[in-house]
Parts: sequence; C-alpha cells; structure tokens
Amino acid sequence: MRNYVIAGNWKMNKTPAETTALINEMKPLVAGAACDVVLCVPYVDIAAAIEAAKGSNIKIGAENVHFKANGAYTGEVSAEMLTACGVEYVVIGHSERRQYFGETDQTVNLRTLAALNAGLKAIVCVGETLEQRELGYTETLLKYQTKMVLTNVTAEQLKNVIIAYEPVWAIGTGVTATAEQADEGNGYVRAAVAEMFGAEAAENITVQYGGSMNPKNAEELLAKENVDGGLIGGASLKAEDFSIIVKAVK
Ligand code: PEP
Repeated sequence: MRNYVIAGNWKMNKTPAETTALINEMKPLVAGAACDVVLCVPYVDIAAAIEAAKGSNIKIGAENVHFKANGAYTGEVSAEMLTACGVEYVVIGHSERRQYFGETDQTVNLRTLAALNAGLKAIVCVGETLEQRELGYTETLLKYQTKMVLTNVTAEQLKNVIIAYEPVWAIGTGVTATAEQADEGNGYVRAAVAEMFGAEAAENITVQYGGSMNPKNAEELLAKENVDGGLIGGASLKAEDFSIIVKAVK
C-alpha cells in the first residue's frame, strides 16, 4: 500500500514571522488532504513552523541533517537536535546541496542513516543532470544513486524512506519533465529498490517526483503509476499553488 506525500522545500526563504503567516494561510487550504502534507523549512524557521502547524495535518521537516551526533562541526545540525525540536522529516541530498556544498552519494548515505537511526523520515533526492541524460545514462545513474544512498539501510528502516526523483535540469528552471519522463525515472528508482530489498518493498516505497511541479502540471504527473507524490520548491512558497498540488492527489 503506497503512501502519497506532497512535501514543500522552502530552500533559503522565509523568516520565522513569514513562516507563521504562510502556514496559517495554508492550513485551511490543505485540510482533509488525501495525502501526507509536509513542509521542509530552514532550521531557523522550525520552531515557528511547528507552532503554526499545531492541530493541522501539516508535518514539519528540515532541509538537511549532519551525520554525526555532535561535536566540532560548526554550522551543522544533528538528527537528534531535529527530533528534539519536533521535526519529523528531513530532505537529504537535494541537488543544490550536491551542486553547491559538495554533497556526494556517500555523504548523502551517511546523513540518511543518521536520520533513520534517530527516527526521522528521510526524503532522499536522486536525479540526473542534463548532460547525463543526453549521454543516455539516466537509468544507470538513477539506479546507482538509489543503491548508493540506501547502502546499509535495513528493510525496517526503508519504511521511513521516501525517494524523490528530481532531474537536476528541472529544478527551479520552470522546465518540467514530461509525465512520461517522471514515471520512467521513478520506475528506475523503484527497480533499484526491488533489486536491493525485493519486489514488495519496491511496490510499497513512496517515490516522489520533483522539478518545477506546479498547479498546472501536478494532476498529470501525479496520475502516473510510479509517481507517489511530489517535492515542491517554488510552488510551496505560495499557499494557493501548494494547496492545488496537494489536492491533485486523488
Ligand atoms: C526542489 O527544490 O526540490 C524543487 C523541485 O524545486 P522547484 O519545484 O522550484 O523546481
């Protein structure tokens, strides 16, 4: 039984006061959703987000987590710190983290393990660049990345993993993968999970699509067999747009 999840990724946007205002606007619009609704927000907004989301169906996530429990890692935040604040989800391995902050499949895997060991739900991102797609490596790359980031994850822990297929060329560009490309990419991810954990686990895992999903294209993307939700950047900063995407899950 697959669980549909629509998650917003606010990136480096919104102050705590703006967070409170946006979540208050969203709450009535996403009430009664047919899917899980998650907002992943900057660390400094977590307290305001959790307070504003109280009593609603919105769950709060972070946008990254470090793999060590504590220590001399200036600027980093551990999984235990996040759970202590009431955070339930965390985005790991977003392409912006990989592109600008040196994240690799290995560090993404370590962060995933740390998150899962602390009881967080991990939204782990994979995706090919335009160059990799044009060279014909999309399937190979997606299967490789999926296996790398899930290394040493147990079958039990996998139940707390969501994989977000996010073609790098579609993130924040306004260029969306076609519904067929999204379905195909998500299918490669699912196939890799099947090779590692078996057919049942692959059938049950939530695989999101992310990359310029918006109110206009959400319904077509979410209708695809392999698309079990979305990771939404730009459109999650507007209450109405985000709620239209949430309601596109039937
Ligand atoms: C994202 O940040 O994961 C994302 C998909 O961004 P956007 O929706 O803006 O392309």
